[in-house]
Amino acid sequence: MTASETLPKVICVARARIPTTQGPEIFLHLYANDKDNKEHLAIVFGEDIRSRTLFKQRSGESQQERMIRGAYVGKLFPGRTVADRDERAGIELKFSNDGELITDEHTWHDQDTLVRIHSECYTGETAWSARCDCGEQFDRAGKLMALDREGDIKGGSGKGVIVYLRQEGRGIGLGEKLKAYNLQDLGADTVQANLMLKHPADGRDFSLGRAILIDLGIEKVRLLTNNPDKVEQVEYPPFLHCVERVPMVPLSWTSEEEGIHSTEIEGYLRTKVERMGHLLQKPLQLHTADEVTKTSITTRSIL
Ligand SMILES: [Zn+2]
Repeated sequence: MTASETLPKVICVARARIPTTQGPEIFLHLYANDKDNKEHLAIVFGEDIRSRTLFKQRSGESQQERMIRGAYVGKLFPGRTVADRDERAGIELKFSNDGELITDEHTWHDQDTLVRIHSECYTGETAWSARCDCGEQFDRAGKLMALDREGDIKGGSGKGVIVYLRQEGRGIGLGEKLKAYNLQDLGADTVQANLMLKHPADGRDFSLGRAILIDLGIEKVRLLTNNPDKVEQVEYPPFLHCVERVPMVPLSWTSEEEGIHSTEIEGYLRTKVERMGHLLQKPLQLHTADEVTKTSITTRSIL
């Protein structure tokens, strides 16, 4: 991506602390934007990763109102009256004359940040689907952000951002995705199924993700992905750079007990490698070029 392409406008309308069952606290940020009507999210690990649009001072706004929409520093506690200063933690925010948050102190600004740009997947994250690895990747991203290290991979040590974009089924929506699943049961792969339904193979748009990361003050991204296209998508010079790609190896490849074990997931991962150029290096039983052509022909005959 180049900076000549204008980004959609995003505004963080509310933020709240969420204690999690997994251990670390997160700050859930809800965004509005000028491109669609969906509520896109950022799941932020770390109190000092701060949204510019959330913290910007609004004229006539009280400290109480700022606390209610989440524009406070440190921690809330019963009886607290000032949003911009946490006396217990000894932190105070500073603002420029026009109300912009000044970010050079007490902030995560300018650090390498572990980031995952994740697209909503109801089936994989909520309905226990073993057709894809979205739920597993989502869990792993959160885990890596909490950890100092896992094997060879440097974790986020409690810092990181998962941008959660509401684009179900690679952007085609849940209803169309269910139809694509039926086509897959009839022999198509995930790319073919989308094309047969007259959708692009991948209809996702990451411009909102870029805009949200920039709003959070992230500049240098360590991107959790196997998808080389996403690495390019996150580039937005001079504001946003991918400094490292952190691979996400499916758990089932390294563990008999963990991860997703199903025939569907093998086919799904194979398609990601063969058709979408994902950088996964496991001895997956890949098709020969000949077989790929044959499969396409068979699928076409379903129509
Ligand atoms: Zn999925």
